[in-house]
Amino acid sequence: MNPECFACADCRKAITSQFYPFNNDYLCANCHEARFPKKRCVKCGSVITSAGITFGGASYHAACFLCVTCKQPINAQSKISMVEGQPCCVNCYEDRHAKRCSKCQKAIVADVEYLEFEDKYWHKECFVCSKCQRCIAEESFYQDGELILCKDCI
Ligand SMILES: [Zn+2]
Ligand SMILES: [Zn+2]
Ligand SMILES: [Zn+2]
Ligand SMILES: [Zn+2]
Ligand SMILES: [Zn+2]
Repeated sequence: MNPECFACADCRKAITSQFYPFNNDYLCANCHEARFPKKRCVKCGSVITSAGITFGGASYHAACFLCVTCKQPINAQSKISMVEGQPCCVNCYEDRHAKRCSKCQKAIVADVEYLEFEDKYWHKECFVCSKCQRCIAEESFYQDGELILCKDCI
C-alpha cells in the first residue's frame, strides 16, 4: 500500500504508527482519541481501562465508587441509592433515610410491602393487632389510642 494513501480519515495525515479502523478508513491515534474519548473517572480523573461503573451518567473506577456516607466501595451489583447526586450504599441509605417500621424499628426497604397509617409505617407482617398479635394487614382494623386492634379484639 502506498503510504500516502494510508492516511487518517480525519486529519488526512499519513499514519506512521498506531492506527484504528474506522468505517472503511483509518484514524490516527490522536483523532481516534478525539472521536472516542476514553472514559475518565469523575472521582480521580484518570482513564478507566477495566470495567468501570456508570452511575447517574458519570463513570467511576470500581475502587472509586464510594458511598458518600461510609466511604466504602459500593458493589455495582447491589442496590445503589442517590443522595444529593452522590452514590450511597443501601446500608447507609436505610440507616439515614428510609422509613422505619413502628413495630420492629427496622428500615422499610424500597421493594418491600408496607402499610402507612397516620404518618406511621409498618412492614406488612409487622402490622398486627395489639392484643392478639395477629397480622391484620389485609383486614379492617380499629384504632384505640396507641393500639391497633382487629375486629375480634375491640
Ligand atoms: Zn488523524
Ligand atoms: Zn477513579
Ligand atoms: Zn455507605
Ligand atoms: Zn417491621
Ligand atoms: Zn386481635
